[in-house]
Amino acid sequence: MACFLSALVSCKTGVKPAIPVDKALESRVEKTLKGMDLDTKIGQMVQLNIDLVVNEDGLDEAKMESVFGRWKIGSILNVYKGKANGREFTAEMISGLQEASMKYIGIPMIYGLDMIHGASYITEATMFPQEINIAATFDPRHASNMGHVLAYETRAAMCPWTFSPVMDLGRDPRWSRAWESYGEDCLVQSEMAVAETKAIQEEGIAACLKHYMAYGAPFSGKDRTPAILTEHEMREKYFRPFKECIEAGALSVMANSASVNGIPVHASKKLLTDWLKKGLNWDGMIVTDWADVNNLYTREHVAANRKEALALAINAGIDMVMDPYDTLCCADIKAAVQEKLIPMSRIDDAVRRILRLKYRLGLFDNPVWDTSVFDKFACPEFEAMAYQAALESEVLLKNEGILPIRKGSRILVAGPCGNSMRTLSGGWTYTWQGTDDPVYVDRFNTIYEALALKFGKDKVKYVPGIEFDQARYAWQNELKVNIPSVVAAARGADVVVLCLGENSYCETPGNLDDLNLSTNQKDLLKAVASTGKPVVLVLNEGRPRIIGDVEPLAAAVVDVMLPSNYGGDALAELLAGDENFSGKLPFTYPKHINALHTYDYKVSENVETMEGEYNYDAVMDVQWPFGHGLSYTSFEYSGFTCDRTEFKSGDILHFELTVTNTGAMAGKEAVLLYSSDIVASMVPDVRRLRAFTKVDLQPGESKTVEFDVPADGLAFVGEDGKWHLEKGEFRFAAGNCSLMTTCTDSSIK
Ligand code: BGC
Repeated sequence: MACFLSALVSCKTGVKPAIPVDKALESRVEKTLKGMDLDTKIGQMVQLNIDLVVNEDGLDEAKMESVFGRWKIGSILNVYKGKANGREFTAEMISGLQEASMKYIGIPMIYGLDMIHGASYITEATMFPQEINIAATFDPRHASNMGHVLAYETRAAMCPWTFSPVMDLGRDPRWSRAWESYGEDCLVQSEMAVAETKAIQEEGIAACLKHYMAYGAPFSGKDRTPAILTEHEMREKYFRPFKECIEAGALSVMANSASVNGIPVHASKKLLTDWLKKGLNWDGMIVTDWADVNNLYTREHVAANRKEALALAINAGIDMVMDPYDTLCCADIKAAVQEKLIPMSRIDDAVRRILRLKYRLGLFDNPVWDTSVFDKFACPEFEAMAYQAALESEVLLKNEGILPIRKGSRILVAGPCGNSMRTLSGGWTYTWQGTDDPVYVDRFNTIYEALALKFGKDKVKYVPGIEFDQARYAWQNELKVNIPSVVAAARGADVVVLCLGENSYCETPGNLDDLNLSTNQKDLLKAVASTGKPVVLVLNEGRPRIIGDVEPLAAAVVDVMLPSNYGGDALAELLAGDENFSGKLPFTYPKHINALHTYDYKVSENVETMEGEYNYDAVMDVQWPFGHGLSYTSFEYSGFTCDRTEFKSGDILHFELTVTNTGAMAGKEAVLLYSSDIVASMVPDVRRLRAFTKVDLQPGESKTVEFDVPADGLAFVGEDGKWHLEKGEFRFAAGNCSLMTTCTDSSIK
């Protein structure tokens, strides 16, 4: 049985190189570096948007001559005309750029694309559910499948580099990019991101871990705004997924656009150089995010102009500057070098890292390759993987017996997400904001279409009641609100599948002021419920929109999040009971706007009423906890044991647990093992996920699940920045089983 272990988290001294050194490759890097003049070195450090080398009809010779011939630019990103193109078209375009790079510079350029949940900028590619859904499967095999498929299909389009995976801990549900990540827990994030990174790189393209780090923790909840975090929280939680992916061989990293504790990450030598490059002995390459060096002076006000900003960022550890629209950035870097604001040694180090990446990808030997051999592109096997991931990611949150829907029932599908591919997929789907979905996805089924296929066209009707504005950036606008039309149609139905949530958005345009589900949509739910017809509430959203006041009106609730192109089909199978639910929430679903929690809150955040006159009203009250997810069958946990009643640093704790399917339907169960440090010198987290796995059980079947947890993985980061494992009791729990073990010896690393 697969068992996903909690990896040892410890501070290492004398760290061995994260990626083994290849001496032959290094000497090629040195030789190339020696042959480069300052202009060529600087050009290699700059990445431009494709708009600067194309025109209306395709590649533009004069522009390419300027970009590669004059400025020696080392990298290009993004898609032609801002939307997905065909695989062959993309491959031809990248080949043309590569040819120009070789002709003018003699060094291959590296092309990068945001392939976020599949090769999302290639029209025919296989789209997986978004990362938040993959996390809900609690099975890293799906992250691995997604990594393999997206990298295969990206390489099939001649692209050697993708800005994936996203591994920001989505710990603030208000944040507009929470869905791009693997959820709020650092273990789930690490296991999934490591699986995806390895898979991407096994296919021969480079992963880019982003956004380093703590990008998902804006204090205001708004994208690209400051994070305020304790250093121990950063070390213990936010750094971990990056550390583990780097140790798994990740070749590149993208920096966080915002600031942490007052220092923009793009200007943080501590985070970029000390923690990442030196701390992990990592020789990979760091690229900025979109125009973020410029943002150091235009937005963050830590530099007076671009030259100062470039010096700040490059000296902090930035190797490649994504300055999408301006070749003059090269002139500013040159001026900064000539004025000795940037030492030549730092320029050489950055260029070495860029050349090393290009050599590692084989671009010097094969700047282009034969893409016709990628005959598995979008094959049924890949589609089946994406479908299976969608199936295991949709979470049944509540069921008062209405599900599965009986065959023969008359079903009314309603709500703005009921007949939309765009809402199912979210951002980074064919376009940045996910807006052009309808153009490409005729071959896939919306929720309504999938239910009509499953239950019969004559049995399923769709009345939207509310429609989303389809214009770019207008995702919050609700049009054609006609609640009475749904109420009237509901009277002729046996059950209403009400699909509420969010239209697609991405990044800062997805900022919002109120996490509550919109008033129109709540009113629609209230009106439909008033007919007395049972309501199956389907939430199709990138973040948990608050529904605390209306949730009691629904007989069942399913959160499909963003399952993408196969999500409608998966939901139809699940609602019909031909498949079983097995997804669990990878985040805490809030109930109140002023009570946004994560599952690993500090024990003292939940204060019970004290003796005497005071009511210490700090209670954890959430809609659904992290890890919540129902099934059509029932599982019983028993025989929970640990091989040690006492342990110390260096030990491995071995746990066993029997899981039995006690219901009548086959099902998969994600088993989550938590620990609680009962007394610690810093206020302990109430619980921490230490390991998880998923078992597949027939009715009546039992399986034994085993977990190995390294004792050092139970340590926390103290005020001194070191890992502390302290003497005392630890409680371990899985489901309703728990046991105590004792750490007998304190240690600090
Ligand atoms: C995003 C990144 C993305 C980059 C390049 C930025 O706006 O924050 O996630 O990789 O653009 O498209």
